[in-house]
Amino acid sequence: MDRVLIDLHAHSTASDGTDTPAELMQAAATAGLDVVAITDHDNTMGWAPALAARPDGLTVIRGAEFSTSVITPQRRISVHLLGYLFDPGHRAIVDEQSRLREERLHRGLAIVERMVAAGVPITADQVLTIAAGAPVGRPHIGRALVDAGVVESVDQAFAMHLSGRGPYYVPKADTDLPKAIGMITAAGGVSVIAHPRGRGERRVLTEDFVAELARIGLGGLEVDHPDHQEDERAELRSIAGRLGLLATGSSDYHGTNKVLRLGQETTEPEVLARLIEASNGITEPVGPGG
Ligand code: AMP
Ligand code: ZN
Repeated sequence: MDRVLIDLHAHSTASDGTDTPAELMQAAATAGLDVVAITDHDNTMGWAPALAARPDGLTVIRGAEFSTSVITPQRRISVHLLGYLFDPGHRAIVDEQSRLREERLHRGLAIVERMVAAGVPITADQVLTIAAGAPVGRPHIGRALVDAGVVESVDQAFAMHLSGRGPYYVPKADTDLPKAIGMITAAGGVSVIAHPRGRGERRVLTEDFVAELARIGLGGLEVDHPDHQEDERAELRSIAGRLGLLATGSSDYHGTNKVLRLGQETTEPEVLARLIEASNGITEPVGPGG
């Protein structure tokens, strides 16, 4: 039998991807995936349209990527946390997602305001039109910069204007990481830290700290991710092994907003089986494998 292809991290237009949830399902089938997780930032709006468009043969795992942070004495460090198979109606999650939606709107507009003040030819309306109702993210601003001819790609927009070290950056007040793990667990889901060696999060995600998170319910680490080097993958895999955490793999696909392919990184079937078993079954996978 062919290898089972499982990709547990993909974005749609319900956040900052460029495929609609329905297009994401088609793209997953075209890429030959057996299982795909839809994991938009801080919301679950894409779940229903994705399931309605699910092609035969594809299993869909419902998830989201929670914006969280860890406050250290020196700084606030952003950590992305994937939540899978949680109850989307859980009160704490609903409340936190609506707070973050507001937070993203104000923060996005503040970044645009700084750009406009510096003479960058974009407007808040353009960015809101591009976001089209999704929680506002920097890639939406990046797209406006591409449309205005300021840069050639969203990637270039990040390199030149949107990074955390850039002149226009405004942080947002994300959920405390342990609190987010607690919310996902309480809602019957499983939490996995996204790209733990991807960006600044490496500074705080030491083995000791990850062990503390495991004790309060963290389920896994996203080990195979396009932003990780071989040595980082090996390190994360051994940490996950020692702490009994799931080691997942995923593409973090964003459509044309990023140069990543669906199925570029994958998760082993046994790992997915353990993840499903660790959830409380309120929100199950949908499709042939579910
Ligand atoms: P935000 O959620 O507004 O803080 O923006 C973070 C989002 O931007 C995440 O989805 C990242 O995957 C995405 N991102 C980060 N760097 C880049 C890049 N170089 N090109 C495209 N998207 C990026
Ligand atoms: Zn992501």
